Amino acid sequence: MKILKFGGTSVGSAARIKGLLDIVDPNERQIVVLSAVSGTTNALVEIGQAFLNGDKQLAKQLIITHKDKYEELIKELFATEEGLKKGKELIDHHFHVIESLANNDIFTPTEEKIILAQGELMSTALWHFHLEEIGVASVLLPALEFMKIDEDNEPIIDHIKQRLSPFLNDNTDNKLFITQGFICRNSFGEIDNLRRGGSDYTASLIGAALGADEVQIWTDIDGMHNNDPRIVTNTSPIAHLSFDEAAELAYFGAKILHPQSVFPAQRYNVPVRLLNTMDPGAHGTLISKAGSEKGIIRAIAAKDGITAIHIHSSRMLLAYGFLRKVFEIFERYKTPIDMITTSEVAVSLSIDDTSNLLEIIKEVEVFGKVGVDEGQTIVCVVGDFGANTHGYAARVLDAVKHLPIRMISYGGSDYNVSILLDTKHKVEALRSLHNRLF
Ligand code: ASP
Ligand code: MG
Repeated sequence: MKILKFGGTSVGSAARIKGLLDIVDPNERQIVVLSAVSGTTNALVEIGQAFLNGDKQLAKQLIITHKDKYEELIKELFATEEGLKKGKELIDHHFHVIESLANNDIFTPTEEKIILAQGELMSTALWHFHLEEIGVASVLLPALEFMKIDEDNEPIIDHIKQRLSPFLNDNTDNKLFITQGFICRNSFGEIDNLRRGGSDYTASLIGAALGADEVQIWTDIDGMHNNDPRIVTNTSPIAHLSFDEAAELAYFGAKILHPQSVFPAQRYNVPVRLLNTMDPGAHGTLISKAGSEKGIIRAIAAKDGITAIHIHSSRMLLAYGFLRKVFEIFERYKTPIDMITTSEVAVSLSIDDTSNLLEIIKEVEVFGKVGVDEGQTIVCVVGDFGANTHGYAARVLDAVKHLPIRMISYGGSDYNVSILLDTKHKVEALRSLHNRLF
């Protein structure tokens, strides 16, 4: 069984929705995971924000504008009276759910998540109804009945397996299953989601839960590139990555893949292929267990919006337990740390979630002098640099020797060399590394 995921642009218009059958073979048993129609989730976020700000007028206006787009879409998508009627009932229903929240006196993040879920619910049903209209059998699987996260927002793979398998077993004659990316239930049973871009994660979680043969992520470019194509010219797609390399790249900024989506695939050893809807025959990028060649620099990626925190403390000198105390503070505020460097009397670390920065700083200040640098970028060079290789760190540093560097991290894993610098130097760093390393 294969799991195929299509993003928002792949279902971005009636023509693209119809065109899914150019890639999906309905005679092969598979689950197709869809995102919301492109632009929808952003619009729903805006609507939710308007509600949160108590601006019902703006919310209603946004709802009308957005509903108009769907009215146009169904007119183009359905050819029969019957199909159009179903499409109309569908969008009426979902926009009614959104509107009805305007009558609530309280609007909390819980209601906001209900709004966000409507996008995927619509895109999947629209395709399902279209297939029905043209006589192609498919089964629509309700993701809200099997996708689940726990109190720490961690997906529960056993639950997914347990709840999803019966749907598949009940439909042994059917080949094509369709389900919603991104949405799930949380530990309270409320509607929740896997964070922006989460449809990739859905596909990989389902692939892991079912022990699928392969997860295919279909996008509009030819796989993961060895540098950011928006910044560097002459980048090229990477044919093969190991899970570890792909995880580092997805985490450190390669926007093509949701950062967490590699882990379930890796844990359950399900290969992931990144493929291009514009060029379906192209090789794309294969992410699998089989390691790639050793000692090869694979790719460069950058992650912006990083804040560096520097803690200088003489109490750290020769003391054990110091780092634990510092880390505990970040843990309490559920703030992940990306990079760390230490000396005998100081530690620098970087975070990207600054929602609790002030509280964190206040607590860390108990340990010593604290400095904060915002607007930083992590540039990460990924490859297989096992312990017996040599020269990679030197080559990376040599390529950025004309730039001021805030932190360097090497040896944490065999797969990356990371540097932290001011975001204003990012473009130059990416270009210089590209020219010297490839
Ligand atoms: N629709 C969601 C988003 O825009 C999930 C996804 O597209 O992967 O973030
Ligand atoms: Mg995406």
